[in-house]
Amino acid sequence: MNRIRLGLMMLGLLILTGTGLAERLDLATMENAEQAQTLIEKTWDYPIPYELLKTSDYIVLANKTHLLDENYIPQDLVKVKVRKISSTPIEMREAASDALTALFEAAKADGISLYAHSGYRSYRTQKTMYYNRLKKNNGKDDGVVAVPGSSDHQTGLGIDVINKAGIGKKFTSAFAKTKEGIWLAEHCWDFGFIIRYQKDKEDLTEIIYEPWHLRYVGIQVSEYLRQSNLCLEEFTEEWQRAVQAYEN
Ligand SMILES: [Zn+2]
Repeated sequence: MNRIRLGLMMLGLLILTGTGLAERLDLATMENAEQAQTLIEKTWDYPIPYELLKTSDYIVLANKTHLLDENYIPQDLVKVKVRKISSTPIEMREAASDALTALFEAAKADGISLYAHSGYRSYRTQKTMYYNRLKKNNGKDDGVVAVPGSSDHQTGLGIDVINKAGIGKKFTSAFAKTKEGIWLAEHCWDFGFIIRYQKDKEDLTEIIYEPWHLRYVGIQVSEYLRQSNLCLEEFTEEWQRAVQAYEN
């Protein structure tokens, strides 16, 4: 009799333990499902890879509200190998310089002659230019020369490219209508460049339309900016929001 009772008690205990285990298993499965759900919600669906945005220094933004440090000097500056307006060497970051060479070669193959003008400009040079302009303009900033730290040329990724007819003249938006300007606007993206200061983005870039100013961002980003028609300011805001949403 005692044995039977003991047996029954043990059986009951087993069932209880078993139930507990099953409940715990259920809970674990639910937690896993929740985690899985969170992961699904956190899927990266922005058109540019997360790793690229977190590591690329070719998407740096320099403008009046995003000033580059006065000590910022790119560490991989090289002399560009393309045809230039003057004999003064032009420097750019290595990847940008290589892309520029490829762009000039493709242009040449299409019968387009391009000339490089201004590439990397140091903070100090920009500062001198800025104060010279102020002096010339009775101390007033007329927006022609960028405030030191805000110039795209300090990134080492910006370059001014014009045609033969433009040599020695003031750059104007009329360049966009020349065959060289048209070629650049159509093909620069294929080499990782963007037209940094577009006509319909003047209120965002706070810089007048400059169809001659190319800016290297890398091919994945340039292709995306071509099809989305975003300027660098809009792109920066967009990708930073995507990264923030993904990380929080
Ligand atoms: Zn420029």
